[in-house]
Amino acid sequence: MEPKYYIMLGPPGAGKGTQAEELGRRSGMAHVASGDLFREAAAQGTELGRQARSYMERGLLVPDEVTIAMIMERLDQPDCQRGVFLDGFPRTLAQAEALDQALAQRGQSVEAVLYIRVAPEVLVARLSARRTCRDCGANYNVLYNPPRQEGRCDLCGGQLYQREDDQPETVRRRLEVYDTQTAPLIEYYRRAGILLEIDGQQSIEDVQQALLRAIQNTG
Ligand code: AMP
Repeated sequence: MEPKYYIMLGPPGAGKGTQAEELGRRSGMAHVASGDLFREAAAQGTELGRQARSYMERGLLVPDEVTIAMIMERLDQPDCQRGVFLDGFPRTLAQAEALDQALAQRGQSVEAVLYIRVAPEVLVARLSARRTCRDCGANYNVLYNPPRQEGRCDLCGGQLYQREDDQPETVRRRLEVYDTQTAPLIEYYRRAGILLEIDGQQSIEDVQQALLRAIQNTG
């Protein structure tokens, strides 16, 4: 069976990671988050990580060429052969086109784009309350989705921390970058007829149910 590719689209703080993680668990498909891959590389101090870090710290996008190569290599891994929920990629038109081309060469295409809509004013509050696990990358929110034990990850017991780029100044920059570079993808995929819109301002569980219904309708 051909792998199915789903793209999670939406601004930082929309809940893409939380939802993709759960969709992956339920479906047995992989959850591939470009931000997680960059943070892992940075923590390991690889050349890729060193390059990525300088952009991430400033809330800017890592250059397309580096990002595309990293993702395409990841999609070739065995755990991606059933299908993938792409989270945080693509983030520019050039990335979207590169993905389309690479999949087309293999006789494949993007199955659907799950666009999680959240009003801008909600995002800053969500991002500043976010805490991330140092070990497994799981996200929590101290207001809406707190861990069972303060400062500890429910899934792996790892230590929770606030990402440097979740500080207010960098959050504003990331939202600007989203507006100018990533939001045009909404129209790109709408035109392609594969955009599915989901209201992201419901409970985590309700958003998950809406996503599952949307995916089911794609067959
Ligand atoms: P995220 O965890 O998705 O919020 O990503 C954190 C940071 O990683 C972003 O602010 C960018 O610096 C970088 N990054 C993640 N995904 C991409 C991408 N598709 N293209 C360029 N940079 C990215």
